[in-house]
Amino acid sequence: MNNPESRFLNSCPIGCKAPLETTAYILPEGALLRCNACGQLISQCTSARYWQSMQEFDDSQGTLPKAGSEAGRVRRSRKFLDRIANLLGLPPEKIRLLDVGCSSGAFLNSAVEIGFCAEGVEPAPKAAATAQYSGLKVRQGLLHEAGYADEQFDAITLFEVIEHLQQPQELLRECRRILRPGGILLIGTGNAGSWSMSAMGASWEYLDIGKHGGHISFFNPGSIALLSQRTGFSVAEIQTRGVRFCEKSNCAAPVYRIAKLAGELVNLPAALLNKGHDMAAYLKRI
Ligand SMILES: [Zn+2]
Repeated sequence: MNNPESRFLNSCPIGCKAPLETTAYILPEGALLRCNACGQLISQCTSARYWQSMQEFDDSQGTLPKAGSEAGRVRRSRKFLDRIANLLGLPPEKIRLLDVGCSSGAFLNSAVEIGFCAEGVEPAPKAAATAQYSGLKVRQGLLHEAGYADEQFDAITLFEVIEHLQQPQELLRECRRILRPGGILLIGTGNAGSWSMSAMGASWEYLDIGKHGGHISFFNPGSIALLSQRTGFSVAEIQTRGVRFCEKSNCAAPVYRIAKLAGELVNLPAALLNKGHDMAAYLKRI
């Protein structure tokens, strides 16, 4: 058992042996650390703070969209699902999909609606119960406890999961075991190599463990590619989107409006250069 007051992450979660250097990004938990080899950014939060922040975020609402944002959420889910079907070259009804960390089932619901044979696994009891209650096929627990068969799935999705993990390699290896060769693993996470990070640094909301329970490990396109290479995947495609120059809570309303407009203007070049702050990595199981 780890000492609750010791640091939750002591080495690069991608598995690099390189030293961690201190950055100038200062969070309440201490300066972010950077892996010298892959550029992964790592929080210095303690084990106690980590587990406390994770607990605060288990509620029955889970990731269900708040009123007003549902249409956007569904559109985005459809884009991911279309891309998966496209990369696999299969119609939705031929695709067995597993959503790992499915929360209360918002993405799963979109997948089922358009015909995917989709199910989920979710460790948080209240969120999992909400998904089950709405009729979705969801197992409550951790992926490695669920005991799926070898090569059982054609596609696996991992949204907002790997930035919480000490050892993402273990999770990706388990995903590889239950994916058939040529299957697609879609990872959605933040992009610490984004222009939003360059502009806002430590005030980028995504880094705030108080607002995003358990966020401790921040990827960039290069570190995702390295992680996939080390766990038996190749990169099929990496897409990023969204640029913000300041957070609404941190600047005056007129400044925020101008910054928002500027963010919209640079969206296209950001997407072309992988500088958006939302990252979707489509990996192919080798
Ligand atoms: Zn590294």
